[in-house]
Amino acid sequence: MSSLNASPITQFEDLALSPVLLQTLKEVGYEAPSPIQAACIPHLLAGHDLIGQAQTGTGKTAAFALPLLERLDLTNHHPQVLVLTPTRELAIQVSEAFQNYARHLPGFHVLPIYGGQSMTVQLRHLRRGAHVVVGTPGRVMDHLRRETLSLDNLRSVVLDEADEMLRMGFIDDVDWILERTPPERQIALFSATMPEPIRRVAHRHLRDPQEVKIQTRTATVATVDQRYWQVSGLHKLDALNRILEVEDMDAALVFVRTKTAATELAERLEARGYSCGSLHGDMTQALRERTVEQLKNNAVDIVVATDVAARGLDVQRISHVINYDIPYDAEAYIHRIGRTGRAGRAGVAILFVAPREMRMLRVIEKATRQAITPMQPPSQAVIAGHRLNRFKQKILDTLAAQELSFFREVVGQIEQEQDISAQDIAAALAYLMQRERPLQAPEVSNVKTTAPRLSEETRSHADAPSRPTPRRERSKEAVDSEAMRYRLEVGHQHGATPQNIVGAIANEAGIDSRYIGRIEIHDDYSTVDLPAGMSAEIFEHLKKVRVRQQPLNISRVAGAPEPERARRRPAATTSGSAGTRERVSRVAKVTSPEREHRPIIRRKRETES
Ligand code: AMP
Repeated sequence: MSSLNASPITQFEDLALSPVLLQTLKEVGYEAPSPIQAACIPHLLAGHDLIGQAQTGTGKTAAFALPLLERLDLTNHHPQVLVLTPTRELAIQVSEAFQNYARHLPGFHVLPIYGGQSMTVQLRHLRRGAHVVVGTPGRVMDHLRRETLSLDNLRSVVLDEADEMLRMGFIDDVDWILERTPPERQIALFSATMPEPIRRVAHRHLRDPQEVKIQTRTATVATVDQRYWQVSGLHKLDALNRILEVEDMDAALVFVRTKTAATELAERLEARGYSCGSLHGDMTQALRERTVEQLKNNAVDIVVATDVAARGLDVQRISHVINYDIPYDAEAYIHRIGRTGRAGRAGVAILFVAPREMRMLRVIEKATRQAITPMQPPSQAVIAGHRLNRFKQKILDTLAAQELSFFREVVGQIEQEQDISAQDIAAALAYLMQRERPLQAPEVSNVKTTAPRLSEETRSHADAPSRPTPRRERSKEAVDSEAMRYRLEVGHQHGATPQNIVGAIANEAGIDSRYIGRIEIHDDYSTVDLPAGMSAEIFEHLKKVRVRQQPLNISRVAGAPEPERARRRPAATTSGSAGTRERVSRVAKVTSPEREHRPIIRRKRETES
């Protein structure tokens, strides 16, 4: 059995992967192979059968996709790799991963096949040819019975999440499919656990398999308060923002998996007003040292880092470690949370876990012999409460530290000249100070809004007084009369849904989902109506945002007709174009803009200085 800890491989270059795949890994921002990748890739490249004991979150998809792509014959358009997955979601996810890693392999085709998807479409794609087929057992059996899928050219089979397939009653189907594969094919079986029926399948079909298992060493961890939040994908940014608003922090270290994510997240937090830096493997030693120095001397409060770059980091003021992306294994987790709670101080570690990654959470708990408790996401009301407390404290601090006689005089003058009370003057000043950071939760706020346009300028003035139009009514009018149509380079063929698009735009551009008007999804592109006046910054950012792995590449639809009044349209319609039947979906909800969140820790320092 291979022990991951014994593996000397620490960089992708140590693996016999071709330059084109190494280039792709650079582009996607992977810094180093995860333990399961370091252990599996050499065996799979050598053509061995393999049993990998690994759960979601360990990087197992790349552990099999990279070596199997390396072994593909791109001139042969018959399926050479078959991946069996328990669910359609996983089939799509694995297909997307293959597509992503094969971005520089000319003519590469991967095809997901699963129940519920149109047979006609699948047949058409199968006829066109695919190097890799990723499917759920039932639908793969269907195609084998109909002889619409041939396994004659198959070189490798992957059983992904075998224990899930067992749990869902597919294990006999898997057996049936394996019996119909060529005898000389390679099999890689991945499973989080190894119950007896899985061992039996392995015994029956695998030849002299290499076994790879993550050795989870138990270890005591420092006095760190450990919590988790079940949140995934694009919602993590919002979750992080809320945490930064309510947690009483000195400095935070945020862990992500890729260099790209480290840079992007740091930029996004900077844009929200946090003093933030990043640490990743592409930075020179001098730059990294500068960031660490800045963290030490309070010039930055948040550092977004990859595991490799944060190794050995020792900064006492790190009060919080946020595991934005889940670590590959318990060892990495223990190392991460060890960056807080230094020198006997109390530390807090928060872990973002997607529902599919809950297993990894349990592995970590077992290794640390400590419970990680679920945290209650702070509500808008709680966030507003924290803001109010900080606001009050700031007033007290100012009264204690500042010479204010001139300002007392000014207030006295206003009182006398205008015949208004000091309380009214204070209320107006408090409003001016906090209008971009409301002290009332939006649900209960009675603040009047201006037209919700999306330029930064108007967004920051969202709470300025205006004519007293009820918010809902006013906002609907905004989308109807001020909407503009945009084109996105993602469509049905990429698997885009209105939810994906709303999620991406809402989370990535900070545009409230209720501003997002009609969405039409076509075969290879979509259109969406957004309020006019989007800032150049948001527009540029939206070009890079991905839905289903496709950059949106947003552009304005030249000469588009005025967006139709969304409210008067049916919820979903079907229209034809260029002979293709295109589904058209609509989402039309509007309200006032999301308010700017401002950081707790930045302000804290401002108050101190
Ligand atoms: P998986 O366990 O295969 O579901 O992968 C979990 C996540 O880890 C995916 O989002 C991958 O893109 C990411 N990932 C896989 N390998 C690496 C790596 N070597 N470096 C950074 N991220 C990775």
